[in-house]
Amino acid sequence: MTYFLLSITNRCNKACNYCVVKPWLNNHDFPDKITATDLISFLEKEFCEGDVVELTGGEPTLFRELETLLDWLKEHGAKVIIRTNGLNLRERRKKYDNIVVVLAKHDSSDSYMSERKTYLLPHDLVLDAIPDSIKQKEGGKPIFIPSNESPYTSHPFTRSLFISADGKVKAMACCSVDMGTVWDYKLLKYQMCDKCDTMLGAWNLINRIGNKTFKKEVA
Ligand code: SF4
Repeated sequence: MTYFLLSITNRCNKACNYCVVKPWLNNHDFPDKITATDLISFLEKEFCEGDVVELTGGEPTLFRELETLLDWLKEHGAKVIIRTNGLNLRERRKKYDNIVVVLAKHDSSDSYMSERKTYLLPHDLVLDAIPDSIKQKEGGKPIFIPSNESPYTSHPFTRSLFISADGKVKAMACCSVDMGTVWDYKLLKYQMCDKCDTMLGAWNLINRIGNKTFKKEVA
């Protein structure tokens, strides 16, 4: 199974001081280059039904052809995560039950969040603040902490591909994979350990789909 992290835009309507992509954000030196057509051409070669695609940015709902991409992903059996501050979260979100929306409050008002929550499905996640589990980082990477809502402590991904808004493709490798020593190594393409914190976060999020224990957030 493959996990795709697609950073589809460097644009955002906010300027949070803790933003991890601040250097690229709304920066004319880093314009968006990829289109939905580019991404779909790539996915047609690399994607298999049931793979997980996470859309991020910037603010991903500012991607001009978002609906074209979402339609393709739904038609092809993708499970999708979207991280958004709620901009352009509208009624049509309910058309996509294959998506988990992670709605982050940032500096938005309570009334804005109340209105945005009306567009969510019960399995979506609202972050009113940065969770402690995400604040805990090691070497700049989040540390996964299991909880009742995130119970899976292993994941099935065997490769992970990152695409940035300039169209570059990178493999997200794992430093924990044991490939032997320099004397007896065996190189493993794309391989990653099943305890990777980033992948565990994605796997737990995507498994919210179809889990009937989640109740819709109301403000
Ligand atoms: S909303 Fe997200 S992408 Fe935009 S500035 Fe804030 S943290 Fe960065």
